[in-house]
Amino acid sequence: MINQEQLQRIHSLYQEGRFQCNFYRKKLADARFKNYEDFSRIPFSRKEEVRESSVYDRTATPTENIFGIYSSSGTTGEKKYYVYNRHDKKIQEECARIFMNMAGIDEKDLGGILSPIGTGVMGHCMTWQFSAVGAGVVHCPEPSPENIVKTLDKFPVTAIATLPQVAASVIENPEHAKAAGNSTVKSLLLGGDHLSETVRKQLENTWEADVYNLFGMSEIFGPIAGECAMKNGLHFPTRYLAIEILDPKTRKSVTLGETGVAVYTTLWDKGFPLLRYWSDDLISIDDTPCPCGSPMPRLFFRGRTE
Ligand SMILES: [Zn+2]
Repeated sequence: MINQEQLQRIHSLYQEGRFQCNFYRKKLADARFKNYEDFSRIPFSRKEEVRESSVYDRTATPTENIFGIYSSSGTTGEKKYYVYNRHDKKIQEECARIFMNMAGIDEKDLGGILSPIGTGVMGHCMTWQFSAVGAGVVHCPEPSPENIVKTLDKFPVTAIATLPQVAASVIENPEHAKAAGNSTVKSLLLGGDHLSETVRKQLENTWEADVYNLFGMSEIFGPIAGECAMKNGLHFPTRYLAIEILDPKTRKSVTLGETGVAVYTTLWDKGFPLLRYWSDDLISIDDTPCPCGSPMPRLFFRGRTE
């Protein structure tokens, strides 16, 4: 599922020294990039390795090019930190513009950020995704149902970025649910966790809003994939993200359209470049044309291996 153009891009990044950090040195000792067979001999990068390495082991970015060092939520155990360089920020904005446009968000919107994790990478990305299209934001850093309702009462928020479970937290209490439905919110942009179609329907009914599924990960940024108006799969840019879909047992590529483990490789001079990053996400890819006209293929989440 990695094409020749993507392979060449990875090879160029290698030649430019983008993988010259402790994290990749050993993995790439005998690396070749002529074809997929060569590439598939490069050892996977694993979550445990990320956990056990230091933030500076995973980057070749000199201090002057660091945009920021951001943490993932770390709900269990130690927080993980990631270097984002200046180019990462630009590409995040470019991707955010694509997916915010697909969801109909523009400078006339006021984004509500319901990020329960303070200044973690997700909260930052949610803020940047609105500023990328010129929309303003208001933060609700402790998004309990009561605080969400208060924020909606005070500000004319039109679009909310949050996790599915936070958006769903207003459903339980009829008064909170009513306030959400009566609010000015017209779109929910959800990421950070699986969104089932049942929950999407519940949320759309309660909030009287369109619900869009976005995909991001702290190791890259968010959103790196997102839904169009069809809400049938998440488009992703193949110029920035190469995805191998592998059989979890044989570790060989599955046939296009079949479900397997997503293994991610990033295709720009990223602060923490991902090279064959084994995600535990089970996904499938559809590269047939989408009625929306976007040339980007779509990915579908099917679960997790854990
Ligand atoms: Zn589409």
